[in-house]
Amino acid sequence: MLTSLICYLWLQQQSIENSKPPEPPPAPPPAAVPAPGAAPEPQPPANLEGGVVQVPTAPASAAPLPPPPSPPPAPALEALEAPAAAPAVSSQQSVRAPGASLLNPALDRLLDFAGEAGLVAIIHNDVDMPFPKPGQDPYQVVQMRDLVKRHPNTTIIWAHAGLGRVVRPVKDQLAIMDRGLANPEFKNLYIDLSWDEVAKYVVASPEAVQATADLIKRYPDRFLFGTDEVAPSDQQKYLKVYDMYAPLFAALPPDVSRKFRMGNYERLFDAARQKVRAWEKAHVPRPAS
Ligand SMILES: [Zn+2]
Repeated sequence: MLTSLICYLWLQQQSIENSKPPEPPPAPPPAAVPAPGAAPEPQPPANLEGGVVQVPTAPASAAPLPPPPSPPPAPALEALEAPAAAPAVSSQQSVRAPGASLLNPALDRLLDFAGEAGLVAIIHNDVDMPFPKPGQDPYQVVQMRDLVKRHPNTTIIWAHAGLGRVVRPVKDQLAIMDRGLANPEFKNLYIDLSWDEVAKYVVASPEAVQATADLIKRYPDRFLFGTDEVAPSDQQKYLKVYDMYAPLFAALPPDVSRKFRMGNYERLFDAARQKVRAWEKAHVPRPAS
């Protein structure tokens, strides 16, 4: 039904809640990766916060941070700021089997339609691989950039900021988002921070909370909160992610916090509802009464 307003697209094998963790890499894997179903582990998001301060061009906060605990992740992903004429990695490289791919033409058709009808599209797509290898292509971010650029009239929400159960923040994660949100070519891109697997990185340290809050304050209209709790058995479980994010809410000015928690959702989906109603009126024949 169109009124659901959400074109919910599963696009990436590694991050999906229902997917199996990929096979471990031959190289030493990064530190502790929570098993599916395991309780969130309070591990320091060194990559997430570290990325901000390690990028000299990022205006983000410069809190002192510990070094990454594991071998350096993939090189800085410049995809969201790279000029289209000279992408860091060709979208045609590293292409695996078609299907759930950002390169599948069917996805373009879906997003074309979402833009025409006014639907909001939520896309699951991880940043980098779950176990990045040195020098690995940042093909998913490159492909995501190209996808958003191909559909400037479609409102696209990047689910979980590209993170997944086995996908830790890559180096420069916040800086990648910062550059993408600053780029007027991506004005149709929004970032969703739902899911306890994402929240655990954001609230793992005061520095991570502050760095995330600083980013949201720079783009107060572009971030969305959600729980991603599936069929919680009681309200306490439903509110788990909301409660986890309490330090982040507290680090934001009240008006920005409200936009993050509710306002941006209301604005985006209220506008979508109006557009979809208009599209329905123009395209869906009504039964004669
Ligand atoms: Zn999700």
